[in-house]
Amino acid sequence: MNHPIECHALAKRYGELAALDGIDARVPHGQVIGLLGHNGAGKSTLIKLILGLIAPSGGRIEVLGQSPWRAHALRRRIGYLPESATFYASLTGRELLDYLARLKQASRTQVTTLLERVGLAHAADRRIGTYSKGMRQRLGLAQALLGSPELVLLDEPTTGLDPQATRELYRIVGELRADGRCVLVSSHLLAELEPHIDGALILRQGKLLAAGSLHALGEQAALPAQVLLRPREPAMSELIARLEMGGLLTQTRPDGRLELQVPRASKLRVLRELLADPAVVDLDVREPTLAQLYDWLGAGPPSTTEVPA
Ligand code: ATP
Repeated sequence: MNHPIECHALAKRYGELAALDGIDARVPHGQVIGLLGHNGAGKSTLIKLILGLIAPSGGRIEVLGQSPWRAHALRRRIGYLPESATFYASLTGRELLDYLARLKQASRTQVTTLLERVGLAHAADRRIGTYSKGMRQRLGLAQALLGSPELVLLDEPTTGLDPQATRELYRIVGELRADGRCVLVSSHLLAELEPHIDGALILRQGKLLAAGSLHALGEQAALPAQVLLRPREPAMSELIARLEMGGLLTQTRPDGRLELQVPRASKLRVLRELLADPAVVDLDVREPTLAQLYDWLGAGPPSTTEVPA
């Protein structure tokens, strides 16, 4: 089966600037993929190309098996939550969704269900002008889901959402995945995003720095695991000396715990030894985070000495 998004040597130039440069990527069905990169990396440009709002300068992009440029019918199969969605303040939430359902040729019977799904049923008949930022964002999500799109693009979707609403949003994202939809989420909030995505596309200065499942990217990076040890007081200095000799100790935390970086290849052996060590009272193992992976890939913004593309 075709992938919902396929890019081959995809390029977009704005005059001299290569906003996207030779992107080869495929995004599979039934997965939630993080679209990551520093400010100006090219994320919004890729989203606009997927939506068919701009034409590529080179290469090819296929969305749900079609070239999206000027493919108006294709738009009905894509849901999109823009980064800062603004709506007609004088309409109620229900009126707006009714109107957009007609534009999208989606069933208007979905409107009530969607308002409930995003937790806005109680405010459905209130003017949008009276909505909080978080409520407007939830309305934005509801409009993105009109017509049961096969592909959903969410640009910084948790902006303005409190922790409870953020959890609700990712619960809906999980439902979309379970339903076989493809969800592309652009975000800078790596720690928040990490538990909810299957994989990532990481852009840097218009180039695709890395793509794949988080597991595969983690294996490729082979970053060390972090171990936090609570030592038994009397044996502490002797334990520190041993860990230092093994090159594992990175620092002693203010709470007295010892922080170690354990290479992946020796992780199991080191953990077995630590668990059997009477000088160790407790330990926690933390796998490398998406943020650490991002740093390892060098995905941060370009330095001032780097020549722009
Ligand atoms: P952010 O995280 O800040 O939203 P982004 O990764 O979405 O950034 P893009 O908006 O895709 O980045 O921009 C990529 C590059 O293309 C940037 O250097 C930007 O200034 C440039 N750019 C984007 N749109 C245009 C345009 N219409 N005309 C000229 N340059 C543009």
